[in-house]
Amino acid sequence: MTSSQATYIRTVNVPLDELRAFPGNARCGDVPTILDSLRRNGQYRSLIARETETDPLTVLAGNHTMQALQLHGPGPCDYRTTHQGEERPCGVCHGEDWSPAARCEVIICDDDTARRVNLVDNKASDASGYDRDALAELLSYLEEDGFEGTGYTDAEVRQIAHAVPPLDTADALADTEDVYREQYGVIVVCGDETEQERVYNELTSQGYNAKVVTT
Ligand SMILES: [Zn+2]
Repeated sequence: MTSSQATYIRTVNVPLDELRAFPGNARCGDVPTILDSLRRNGQYRSLIARETETDPLTVLAGNHTMQALQLHGPGPCDYRTTHQGEERPCGVCHGEDWSPAARCEVIICDDDTARRVNLVDNKASDASGYDRDALAELLSYLEEDGFEGTGYTDAEVRQIAHAVPPLDTADALADTEDVYREQYGVIVVCGDETEQERVYNELTSQGYNAKVVTT
């Protein structure tokens, strides 16, 4: 029986070789960052897998989490992290023998709904933005143990903490007013993010209206 709305059936741990990726998934995810998160935080969110009478369990949402678990491969791995001075093993294999598997919420639905679930799960995160103050505050609580498993690099956190919105080249020189007027600027090409930050701080301290550009 299928339904035009997703119906939850059960939550179960499924070996990866019994799961298949959603055919034609259009999203390209950052698999290594997801694996970093899984190692540091564990699998905090279930995959959404569709059960039918004919096909293997098909992952509608969480295809990149599945790929990250595949990338981890059979355990144990030698990953260790430190949390408040205490050493902890990998959140995927726990430093023990582990066969690649993922916790899945199994649903049933019709083909049309399966496509919609896959599409909206990918699209919904594109459409969101950030409250930068809230983001900077959240990150600040993690300073002591580092930003591993947050998806943020140290350089990104520094940029957020300094409340410098990342701009693309066009935005950097665009005026917010509707009326076009010429603007004159100089772009300083930097070797890396550290130099970019140093140059930005130097120019700002000299009173220049500097903007950060990453292309
Ligand atoms: Zn591991």
